[in-house]
Amino acid sequence: MNDFLQLPLKRVLGRGASKLEKKLGLKTVYDLLYYFPRRYHKKGELTSFSKLVVGEEQSVLALITRSKVRFTSTGKWMLTLTLSDTKSQMDAVFWAKSEHVANWMSRQLCPGRTMLFSGKPGLYNGIPQLTHPTYEPFEESLVEMSRTEDEAATHDGQPPSVSDLQQRAKELADTPEPIYPASAGLPTWNIAKTVRTVLDMAQGADLADPLPPQIREKYSYPDLLTALQMIHTPSSEQDYQLARERFAFEESFLLMSALAQKRFEEEQVGAPQISPREGGFYDQVKSALPFQLTAAQESALEQIDEKLASPGALNALLQADVGSGKTVVALLAMLRAVDAGHQAVFLAPTEILAEQHYRTIRDFCERGSGAAIIGAGVNVDLLTGSASTSHKREVLARAAGGEPGIFVGTHTLLSKNVQFADLGLVVVDEQHRFGVEQRSQLRRPQGMNGLRPHLIVMSATPIPRTIAMTSFGDLDLLTLDFGPRQAGLVQTVFVPESNKVWMQRVWERAAEDIRAGGRVFVVCPQIGEGEQEDPESVPSPLSTDQVLPIASSSPTPTPTPKHTVKEVVSRLRGLSQLAGIEIGYVHGRMSAEEKIEALTQFANGTKPLLVATVVIEVGIDIKNAATIIILDADNFGLAQLHQLRGRVGRDGGKGLCLAVSTALPGSLAAQRLEAFCTYSNGFDLAKADLEIRQSGNLLGTNQAGRKTGLRVLNLAKDEQLIEASRADANQLVVQNPTLDAYPALQWALTHRLTDEELDNLARG
Ligand code: ADP
Ligand code: MG
Repeated sequence: MNDFLQLPLKRVLGRGASKLEKKLGLKTVYDLLYYFPRRYHKKGELTSFSKLVVGEEQSVLALITRSKVRFTSTGKWMLTLTLSDTKSQMDAVFWAKSEHVANWMSRQLCPGRTMLFSGKPGLYNGIPQLTHPTYEPFEESLVEMSRTEDEAATHDGQPPSVSDLQQRAKELADTPEPIYPASAGLPTWNIAKTVRTVLDMAQGADLADPLPPQIREKYSYPDLLTALQMIHTPSSEQDYQLARERFAFEESFLLMSALAQKRFEEEQVGAPQISPREGGFYDQVKSALPFQLTAAQESALEQIDEKLASPGALNALLQADVGSGKTVVALLAMLRAVDAGHQAVFLAPTEILAEQHYRTIRDFCERGSGAAIIGAGVNVDLLTGSASTSHKREVLARAAGGEPGIFVGTHTLLSKNVQFADLGLVVVDEQHRFGVEQRSQLRRPQGMNGLRPHLIVMSATPIPRTIAMTSFGDLDLLTLDFGPRQAGLVQTVFVPESNKVWMQRVWERAAEDIRAGGRVFVVCPQIGEGEQEDPESVPSPLSTDQVLPIASSSPTPTPTPKHTVKEVVSRLRGLSQLAGIEIGYVHGRMSAEEKIEALTQFANGTKPLLVATVVIEVGIDIKNAATIIILDADNFGLAQLHQLRGRVGRDGGKGLCLAVSTALPGSLAAQRLEAFCTYSNGFDLAKADLEIRQSGNLLGTNQAGRKTGLRVLNLAKDEQLIEASRADANQLVVQNPTLDAYPALQWALTHRLTDEELDNLARG
């Protein structure tokens, strides 16, 4: 299968292959043919200098306007060219050992010629400059073309007419020239030549197309060889655009097929079939809720019910903005399991959250008007690492005894020494750091019933649908897109830290809120000087920050040292605006008891101002928290910032978020903070985030040397392609789960998409 694509380049190209492998990591014909141009330019269209990235290998098509040879004080000859893109100028310099060589070069590189230079632009006196670029005359192919025309002409005795030649020249000038991501010593034109050579050989070979014919037909996509020709040697813009679309679709389709297979596999695993029990705990707790479920919650519950009751396993991602009411959905799902006589596990990322959920869940279960003991019969247990040995023993016994009930805890609950006799459902709250494989582990066979539990994974970070589909495509996607708390209640304001008047106002505002009975969070990026928050103690939610490659132009580093909890606490204690206000603090280096004490004192108003690291990021529910002040806001990802502001305004009152930063106007960091202030809905913000990132990363999307990730697919722009390919892949897998009717697709799945890649994509 696919022999030609699998051939080592060495076999096909001989010695010429070694550079491709060394410089670009291309080993096989497949590697090379799927090494797509980064962009195209029309012949004769000069490269705009303003688009060049300093320090990155690039090709520059430029007009030489001046050429000068001189002898330098270092005893070498120097040729300086002035290049023009018609709007601005830059220099290219070359060194030569002898005057003879310098003059020879200057004759080649004479003013008036258009040349394609390749090299890394550097800055010399603040002006971009190319030092020793490689170069090639750009008119070359035109010259070649007229030469072959000439030869052809002599055969049939007819010299080409001048107008023919002019016509050819015009066509050529419009032909898009592929520009490949190059590397030093391997300029784009060399890559282009090699690709053309291999493409020629591919003509006779049989290239098995990973896209099944019916799918190609459905979208009128060209077959593989044609598409490769169109992307590498397009004769028009339409050519490469159609080819790009096909390859983006192909990329997404492969991913979706792999995910669909995983999902199908997981669904085949024998999970307990759970049907509603009339008048059970579910019904009792639901009817005693102090509020009406939103339509989104009801619809999520319906979908959950349907899967629980069907023979296959439920594997769902429940994603919603902060405060959308995921907990109650999870609780009701767990009660379905309990009603059917099974056990349910609720996993929280930290002990604090586990405790909080435990109380919430117990309250909901015990709730009831007057003395009614509605739901009182539900067992709710809490198990965390810091529980006493005797308590642990009790809970473990109940787990192993198969007693139906809800077990709330941290991940210790899933350690090997905890045996559940009859686990029906696992809910993972605020889950993030798990790849596809870890998700499967959560569902490893549990206990004596020989069945695997159903799984609901909850993420409080809304992620754009494209990322949800690509990273969590092995799960059913349930979305609470509109929470009980109307979006937009938290007003977000950017505060430039350099503005002393504003900063004074910030602390005055904090004092006012506290005097009015509210609570104020102050968030800092660090605990103490150089003491980063321990990543393990910080439950960072799934964030697009992690899923996407870091933008090539990373956020401008903050010039001033970052604020620390220690420094801020002592500074605020000395501020006149905050006189008489008790200040507490919390961070990940404190013990669980210390943390809980700090939060309790904060909640009950003993210390109504809390300086904290991002340990408070996730899920913590302090009803009268009014304002959150985030220092060095540019240090946090957008998803994280959004989480943080979700901590305030939770009792339905108006919340305020002050994002304090030294980010310079116009910087990427400032752009992100602007988006943060503009979009209060998490889904909108996530989308804006994705767009900012992808635009910051445009040049990088097709970069050489990136082992994982996407080549052509653009998560910000290709939503429809992803959606369509997901539907097609699902359909195909349902009809033919092993995909053995599609050997080319199977080959591509095993050779082009490693488990590691899948996993990385899922984890980000
Ligand atoms: P999150 O999705 O962030 O985990 P929670 O489950 O903590 O959100 O819910 C936030 C708050 O909204 C809780 O106090 C919860 O009791 C409340 N809540 C949940 N559903 C509703 C609803 N349908 N109507 C009103 N309040 C609700
Ligand atoms: Mg929650």
